[in-house]
Amino acid sequence: TRVSGTSNGGGGGGGGDDYRQLVQFALSASSALKIQKGDITEWSVDGASDAIVNAANERMLGGGGVDGAIHRAAGPELRAACHDVPEVRPGVRCPTGEARITPAFRLPVSHVIHTVGPIYDVDRHPEDSLRSAYRSCLTLAKENNIMYIAFPAISCGVYGYPYAEAATVAISTVKEFAEDFKEVHLVLFLDELYNIWLEKARELL
Ligand code: ADP
Repeated sequence: TRVSGTSNGGGGGGGGDDYRQLVQFALSASSALKIQKGDITEWSVDGASDAIVNAANERMLGGGGVDGAIHRAAGPELRAACHDVPEVRPGVRCPTGEARITPAFRLPVSHVIHTVGPIYDVDRHPEDSLRSAYRSCLTLAKENNIMYIAFPAISCGVYGYPYAEAATVAISTVKEFAEDFKEVHLVLFLDELYNIWLEKARELL
């Protein structure tokens, strides 16, 4: 059920929903999935319990891609908070498919939920691992009373997950949690990814 096209004209000036090409889908009577272009480090919902998801690695001490961008924007306190997350085995703070939560420090949101997606060509069951990563984030968010959450395209960068297949996993898993959030956002950095994920959402919702 598509609710609107590029929603909320948003008045003049740049930086509004039009610019981000935000498209909204109803998940339930009281919740929406919103797909937009943009930089997830700039995302927040004013005055709400909100969180962004980081596509981290098992060590949780920073990396490239969205992980690097989030650590740069959050400041060094985030690395320190991640360092304090206990290791489950040497060098592993968050195993693939699991999630951990920290404060967000200099970011405009209240929390960062760190998850680790599968390396597509290495993981024996990449779809199960990716689904588990989304589920772990949504479960942890729910436990922390977060009502607004934004995801990047987990595993779609250096981890090499095919875009359309990743979209199917992301959207179908978010749908399972329709009752638990006010808004779930998918914030996509690349035009190609945005176009493919939007097409998939129109097909599945
Ligand atoms: P992974 O290791 O899980 O593949 P990457 O960080 O390499 O993680 O890529 C995940 C996705 O995040 C990619 O699609 C990449 O384009 C995207 N990305 C990179 N920077 C940002 C950002 N600032 N905001 C949102 N998405 C981003």
